Amino acid sequence: MGRVQGKIALVTGGARGIGAATAELLAAEGATVIITDILEEEGKALSDKIGGGFYPLDVSSESQWQRVISSIEKEFGRLDILFNNAGIIGLSEDLGSQDPENISLESWHHVHQINLDGVFLGCKHGMGLMKKQGGGSIINMSSRSGIVGIPGASAYASSKAAIRNHTKTVALYCAEKKYGIRCNSLHPGAILTPIWDPMLGTHPGTREKIIAGIEAGIPLGHMGEPLDVAYAVLYLGSEESTYITGIELTLDGGILAGSAASPQKAE
Ligand code: NAP
Repeated sequence: MGRVQGKIALVTGGARGIGAATAELLAAEGATVIITDILEEEGKALSDKIGGGFYPLDVSSESQWQRVISSIEKEFGRLDILFNNAGIIGLSEDLGSQDPENISLESWHHVHQINLDGVFLGCKHGMGLMKKQGGGSIINMSSRSGIVGIPGASAYASSKAAIRNHTKTVALYCAEKKYGIRCNSLHPGAILTPIWDPMLGTHPGTREKIIAGIEAGIPLGHMGEPLDVAYAVLYLGSEESTYITGIELTLDGGILAGSAASPQKAE
């Protein structure tokens, strides 16, 4: 028996990176996984490999969410695990400066539309289906950047902070309504995926140097892997976590455990 045997799971932004690793792990642990993404070719290819299904979904579109949730209800009858994972940092797209002084209002809105509106819509429409069956688990992708300030990615940090808070609202609302739906947020630190490409560059020597610089600031000494996050989703989506709702789970190799200027006795 897998840890999520027989469950129906939906992973947004599931074509690559953390979403893809999570889709594979949930499928290996017995779930039927529906992948959604705007990357149709990659999403379909992964879905063909692990079974389940693929739907194109731009998470910022309410009409597309309505279509996807109603297709899942028709085809699968229920939804047990919803991983609201899709998101952008705003640095790889042609969105201009992301610092709080120079970011354009349009760019600010665009990042919030995908990251924050995407999670809001997922919770709204996911809970509509889950409550009919008496429960489910919603896992929202925030970030370490939703807890600390990020000068070079202000809209990203703001949207992730709002996801952290909205998760707690959804958790309490569902508890009040006795829907049986749990809702928790994830806060990864530096996980090596394509989202890092604009920050690491493509030149092999430079890329390794930047990674070494990032790793120097991580207590465990290395960047995380998509599977590190996938295992947290597996736990929060399974029956092993039925008493857990409204939490924020950090997965950052220890970064947020301490402070850069911690007091130390001189040698
Ligand atoms: P990724 O490899 O870029 O994966 C994100 C996926 O979401 C991509 O397939 C992307 O497609 C898709 N996507 C973008 N906009 C979308 C939209 N409007 N609708 C649906 N899908 C969309 O990055 P990742 O690192 O796996 O990130 C997954 C999530 O983890 C993100 O929310 C990210 O903020 C969060 N996170 C990542 C880290 C990290 O260090 N990697 C740390 C903290 C939080 P495109 O390639 O076409 O954009």
